[in-house]
Amino acid sequence: MALVCIAGSINADIVVSVERLTRPGETLSGSCLEYHPGGKGANQALAALRAGASLRFAANVGDDQLAATALGALDAEGVQHEYLREVRGVPTGVALIRVAADGENDIVVVPGANHVWPSDFDADAFFHGADLVVLQMEIPVQINLLVLEAAKRAGLRTMLNPSPWAPSVLELLPFVDILVLNETEAGFLLGIDAEQVKIDPEGAARAILDRGPGACVLTLGVGGHVTAEAGTTVQPVRDPAFRVCAVDTTAAGDTFAGYMAARLASGDSLPVAARLASAAAAICVTRRGAQSSIPYIAEVSEFLAQR
Ligand code: ADP
Repeated sequence: MALVCIAGSINADIVVSVERLTRPGETLSGSCLEYHPGGKGANQALAALRAGASLRFAANVGDDQLAATALGALDAEGVQHEYLREVRGVPTGVALIRVAADGENDIVVVPGANHVWPSDFDADAFFHGADLVVLQMEIPVQINLLVLEAAKRAGLRTMLNPSPWAPSVLELLPFVDILVLNETEAGFLLGIDAEQVKIDPEGAARAILDRGPGACVLTLGVGGHVTAEAGTTVQPVRDPAFRVCAVDTTAAGDTFAGYMAARLASGDSLPVAARLASAAAAICVTRRGAQSSIPYIAEVSEFLAQR
């Protein structure tokens, strides 16, 4: 089985439902309070696992009660704790999410342990035997850089999901083989409005390749995705999204990235991997929630067989 190694974030999502978002200084009663596992690293790790990959996941939780919440789904699926560290005296990463009755939300992320990595993190041991090394932007950029540089020295393939966007992504790009990004991140990278990316996504994908990655997958929400590879005569290809009844797009991008990672690691071409990822993400948006809405490969295969 192909091995995907992910170093990234893990959070406890604390979700409160409110009639409307509060104004500065105002107090409102929330109707419902829920605790869920989250974090982009953990979401993508679960997606890769449910896509059928072998997984090694490196992340840090605090020594508080929220660690169990953050680890809940990973533990339920039997993910090894070899690279899951508990950091003393530091809180587990938390995303405080308020969801209003009209669906509007706001989110405050407190990185906590996600920003406390051992200074002697042994990247070589971590990704030994990997078919693909995967990173996002919710851990310190120094760790991402350390892992990417070491992975390239070892001749491994690397994938970056530059989310949430930070200008430091530019430092990482020379070491990235596959960049998986949405239209907002593409806009930041190219210094243009996300609306312009939507108007000409194939042109945007070509411009992204000029910035250095070997390949890119540009996701466009309900608009589907574009795949593009450098050094070939093949032009960027746009694939439409699967038509589904979307109720909650939380974790769509993470489902897409995790499935991409699993399929690329097992040898699929970029367009083939992206089509499967798109099917998985389409199923994800038909359900409420984050990690709980990431489908397993059997369901994705059945979904594709019916199309
Ligand atoms: P992010 O969540 O990172 O913003 P996108 O919104 O681009 O990412 O969504 C990622 C992928 O999820 C899309 O490329 C598409 O395959 C799928 N997706 C998102 N929204 C929908 C939708 N409404 N219907 C079907 N598929 C969707």
